Amino acid sequence: MSTAALRVLSLGAGVQSTALLLLVLAGEVKASAALFADTGWEPRAVYDHLERLKGLCAEHGLPLYVVSNGNIRNTREQDSFYHAPYYLTNSDGSEGMSRRQCTHQLKIVPIRRKIRELMAERGIAPTPGAVECLMGISLDEWHRMKDADVRYIVNRWPLVERRWTRADCKQHLADQGWEAPRSACIGCPYHSNTEWRALRDGSPDEWQDAIRFEQEIQATGAALRGTPYLHAQRVPLPMVDLSTPEDRGQLTLDAECEAMCGV
Ligand code: SF4
Repeated sequence: MSTAALRVLSLGAGVQSTALLLLVLAGEVKASAALFADTGWEPRAVYDHLERLKGLCAEHGLPLYVVSNGNIRNTREQDSFYHAPYYLTNSDGSEGMSRRQCTHQLKIVPIRRKIRELMAERGIAPTPGAVECLMGISLDEWHRMKDADVRYIVNRWPLVERRWTRADCKQHLADQGWEAPRSACIGCPYHSNTEWRALRDGSPDEWQDAIRFEQEIQATGAALRGTPYLHAQRVPLPMVDLSTPEDRGQLTLDAECEAMCGV
């Protein structure tokens, strides 16, 4: 039995968190608000999906807050706060990675800020466990379960408690006439080859946008020591060989990203 004074859903607008949102709206899981952290660079399909979810939440009287701490595409204009995990080629030819700061700065920080705001409005003190944050992680992605790094927030994983896999979530969506896109920034370096191919072949304008972005961060240096690339092959995106399903060295959202991204 929950003793938290506030329960919120962290909505990534992907398959799992959309399935969790439907459970909340059906009254099967309790939450009093949903929070979506906008990095400013989600694919059009995610923003379209988000609009539909806003309408659904409005019908059910559940507040859905879109929060932001800047746009990941502005990395080149700022200091290194918003770096994604770029693949680097250093001046001596060695390879490296830039430290991922995007998930924390663009997702965790604005969601935390909104939670504190909701707590203040309700007069909730930041005592241990005062807030429960529901995460849309399914059983097959249990390795992404991670405790919050502040004591007043306790993360919960209702899909894991139900032993739902991603396939179960998809089925739950389909049963209600829904589907959900993959949620991740257009140029996320964690894309698999399959995802890059889908972007190139299915959304040519977004593919071109990712190419432009890579050129921009390379031209400015983006406060990095080496030349940044969006793909592990460390060549410009149009030259990447995407013919294999995956690439050695290519990190993935599933394996590496914190629970805030892509759920
Ligand atoms: S989806 Fe990728 S680029 Fe976007 S915030 Fe998450 S890790 Fe960073």
